[in-house]
Amino acid sequence: MNPFTTEQIRQTQDIKHLSFDEGTRFIAGGTNLVDLMKLQVETPTKLVDLSQWQGTEEITEVDGAYRVGAMVTNTALANYAFTVPELSLLSQALLSGATVQLRNRATTAGNLLQRTRCYYFYDTEKPCNKREPGSGCAAMSSMNRIHAIFGTSEHCIATHPSDMAVAMIALDAQVEIQTQSGEQKLVALRDFYREPGDSPDVENVLKRGELITAVRIPKVSHGTQYYAKIRDRSSYAFALVSVAAGLKLAGETIESATLAFGGVGTKPWHPESTLKVLNGAAFSEALIDEAINAELEHASVYGSNDFKPALLRRTVRQVLMSLYHKQKTDAGHEGARYEN
Ligand code: SF4
Repeated sequence: MNPFTTEQIRQTQDIKHLSFDEGTRFIAGGTNLVDLMKLQVETPTKLVDLSQWQGTEEITEVDGAYRVGAMVTNTALANYAFTVPELSLLSQALLSGATVQLRNRATTAGNLLQRTRCYYFYDTEKPCNKREPGSGCAAMSSMNRIHAIFGTSEHCIATHPSDMAVAMIALDAQVEIQTQSGEQKLVALRDFYREPGDSPDVENVLKRGELITAVRIPKVSHGTQYYAKIRDRSSYAFALVSVAAGLKLAGETIESATLAFGGVGTKPWHPESTLKVLNGAAFSEALIDEAINAELEHASVYGSNDFKPALLRRTVRQVLMSLYHKQKTDAGHEGARYEN
């Protein structure tokens, strides 16, 4: 490991007094960054330790939203979300994401900022535009089973690995960002991540010295919710395909549908074309196929990941049909209770 210095912040405003250069990194739980440092993928010259950062380990209710502090652990957030029906798919996503040990350590902001699990990114012998801009992309013509089909470019096809971010995008979350000059910004999470284009090393809209202080999730009901995750093994693994979904029906009409996909996009994927077809339409299996086909028109495959469009189609269909039947069953029970 290369030598590095450390500094610590205790208050958000402490970042005003820090100097940031290209080699400066924030470290929270360290569940991804430390691995990257061991492999020499990341070689920071300074780490800013966030472990004593006060007031950021709380979940509160602010302005019609749940405000999740940056240092809230994945365990604490999963437990909280489990008790709130509007956040049930967030709990499901977090519980599917990592082992208890990792969830106890990993933080909300750190989870959003984790790096891709593209094999070649972690192998410093291989060309990788994300790790070393301009060096090429080993995934393009090699094994790319876990790679993206949406938002790709000729320079990078790596997926974003977070389950939590997929759930949060489906729930219309916003990211609170503190600048070094003291300004606070709110950015929709679906606009926070960048597609790789010709600069895959730039993954989000954060500028140097900016810090995620919290995530806000509106207190809005998205109806019945489900997070489905398809992976290569039943134990913890990153998603080949995941679908975060909420469905609200008015009779047979889709009053509102919310969706986000993991494992298929260079960023947690918000399927706008699919949602455009679904919202306000009469629910049917044919409609689901039409909706997913509209999104798949934008997909590209690269060899070993050619199976992903079909897997995504089956997963979306299965999730939406389950939510439909669950609502119908629940409505039937409500009716039965009322009649009694
Ligand atoms: Fe690197 Fe992206 Fe290519 Fe993977 S897909 S090798 S992360 S440039």
